[in-house]
Amino acid sequence: MDYSDLKKWSKTAADWADDYYESLADRPVRPDIQPGEILAKLPETPPESAQSIDDIFADFKALIPDAMTHWQHPRFFAYFPSNAAPASVLAEQLANTISAQCMLWQTSPAATEMEIRMIDWLRQALGLAPHFAGLIQDSATSSTLSAVLTMRERALGWEGLENGLSGTKPMRIYASAQNHSSIDKAVRLAGIGSKNLVKIPTRVDHSMDAEMLEAAIKDDIANGLHPAGLVICVGGTSIGASDRVAEVIRIAQDHDLYTHVDAAWAGSAMICPEFRAIWDGIDGADSIVFNPHKWLGANFDCSVQFLKDPELQIRTMALRPDYLKTASHSDITNFSEWSLPLGRRFRALKLWFLIRAYGLEGLRTRIRNHVAWCKEAEEAIAALPDFEVVTECNLALFSFRYKDDDAATEKLLEQVNADGRIYLTQTTHEGQYVIRMTVGQFECTRDDVMVAVDVLRDLTA
Ligand code: PLP
Repeated sequence: MDYSDLKKWSKTAADWADDYYESLADRPVRPDIQPGEILAKLPETPPESAQSIDDIFADFKALIPDAMTHWQHPRFFAYFPSNAAPASVLAEQLANTISAQCMLWQTSPAATEMEIRMIDWLRQALGLAPHFAGLIQDSATSSTLSAVLTMRERALGWEGLENGLSGTKPMRIYASAQNHSSIDKAVRLAGIGSKNLVKIPTRVDHSMDAEMLEAAIKDDIANGLHPAGLVICVGGTSIGASDRVAEVIRIAQDHDLYTHVDAAWAGSAMICPEFRAIWDGIDGADSIVFNPHKWLGANFDCSVQFLKDPELQIRTMALRPDYLKTASHSDITNFSEWSLPLGRRFRALKLWFLIRAYGLEGLRTRIRNHVAWCKEAEEAIAALPDFEVVTECNLALFSFRYKDDDAATEKLLEQVNADGRIYLTQTTHEGQYVIRMTVGQFECTRDDVMVAVDVLRDLTA
């Protein structure tokens, strides 16, 4: 295949995409497939001679779609959504065609400047103060690792980068147990050590207990430890819990801690002013992550990190070897200096297409519908015999269980997912096995959401 064949095959791929989306609602959300089934169908050795795209495309159609979990299925209610609005898929095709490596302004002027503008569009859309700048990363995990490394280096006066951590006082990072495991991973990988991640107990509303946070920080100081940062949860993965942002930021600031807010999922809902109470006080944060690739509609990957003072993170991350130096360093942005990887994709383009193609009002309408339909499903499930709602809707996520019984709930979840009409996943909450349901697929309808109630009713009739 050469570039002159690209047009023909791009059209074939576009036709296939059209058929795929047309048939998506009729497919089971999750494939009926055993581990190893696809591996066994893939040749063990690579081909020595070229094969035709006809053959490769035919094999793709025969092997792949039916062996995938369909994240864009309108009845995908598992994990959190990973949306791919059509306008953003289209933008991704264009970015793939250009295939630029966007590490420096010089290697990608339009991509860099588009990223600056899109970050500011999103800042305004989320109602954040003008002092935030930011960047697009691949994942919330990377954004959080960047923030934790910045916490570490800020606490060490940027000496850890040169001297390492040996001989320094053990550093302490605080977070509640409702935080995502990416915080644990960041603290481990930053060399701080998981035993220095202090998990502060939560109150009945599942927010971090502020008095316990303050007491833990004071105890640590008294014991010669070094408090460095606080990670704040807004819309946690398990049940959608949120900390009281203003209250815990005030405590962090009193003790000179760097603060990072993980709003990977819930951040998208902040385009709706009526939901912003859950992050009241957010403008005091040093760093915030939210993933437009979850609920907003930008296809994976697209994680936005807002920073109050980017210089702190740049000082932690940037290296400028001779072969990457560019002219007029002072008036350009080289985003690779703001994060871990050197190479970067052109991710801002899909935000530009997304926000323009639906408008903020179109995106808000979707999120408002998801929240309303999720509440309706929660109430309908609560009314089914032998079901109980364990945690009520936080935005568009609630959890429930069957017959006050872990084993029966787990068995029901297996039956639900074998049925194929919907897809749900589990968590544990306060020692109980519960099923989570989250509504957020970009094109889902109220009818799609209410199918979940039908499935549960049918399977337990
Ligand atoms: N934070 C929260 C609240 C999440 O729900 C997730 C993933 O679902 C993450 C962080 C990690 O996101 P990513 O896959 O972008 O690293």
